[in-house]
Amino acid sequence: MKILAIGRNYAAHIKELNSANLGEPVIFTMPDTALIQRNKPFFYPKYSSDIHYEVEVLLKICKVGKNIEQKFALDYYEEIGLGIDLTARDLQKKAKDNGLPWTIAKGFDGSAPISEFVDKKDFDLKNLDFSLHKNGESVQQGNTSMMLFDFDYIISYLSQFFTLKKGDIIFTGTPEGVGPVAIGDRLEGYIQDKNFLKVDVK
Ligand code: MG
Repeated sequence: MKILAIGRNYAAHIKELNSANLGEPVIFTMPDTALIQRNKPFFYPKYSSDIHYEVEVLLKICKVGKNIEQKFALDYYEEIGLGIDLTARDLQKKAKDNGLPWTIAKGFDGSAPISEFVDKKDFDLKNLDFSLHKNGESVQQGNTSMMLFDFDYIISYLSQFFTLKKGDIIFTGTPEGVGPVAIGDRLEGYIQDKNFLKVDVK
C-alpha cells in the first residue's frame, strides 16, 4: 500500500503558513513505516525540535483505478478515517528554503498516526466536522466544506499520476490551527463528536 497526501487544501491553513495557493493541490507521499495504528504512542525523534500536528480526514481506496473521472471517484473509496500528518516543521522549512523535497519532514517513522476506518455512508462527506484536541483543549476544528479540492477531485487528480490500489490511504489536508507537540502531550482526534484517535507523545 502507499500513502498519498494533499497539502494546502484549506485556505486559512495556507495563510497561517504564508504558503502560496498554486491553484492545484500539493502532493507528497509517505512510506508505510510512517504509520502508527491502534492508538500506539509517538516517540519524538532526535532530528527535529519542532514537530507539528495536522489533523486530516483520510480516505481508504477500495479498488484499483487510473485516470478516474470525478463523477466516478466515489466508487473508489468506501471508508474514511482520521489521521495526524505529523510534520517536522524545522526540516520542512529547511527543505522549502532550499527548494528541496519534503520527504524526511513528512515521512519519517511514526509521522502518520491513523484511526480505524469506517463506512463513509454514515457521514455527510461534504459537510463533515472534524477536530483535534491537545491535552483536552480543542486546537483544530475543520469542516470538509472548507476544502479547496473536494474528495472526488482529489481522487481524480491523484489517479492521473498514481495508479490507486486497494488499501492505499489518502490524507486530504489540514485546516488552520496547526501547532507544536511536546513530550507528554496527548492528541485526540474527532470526527463529529466521536473520538477516532488518541496519540500520546513520548
Ligand atoms: Mg498535512
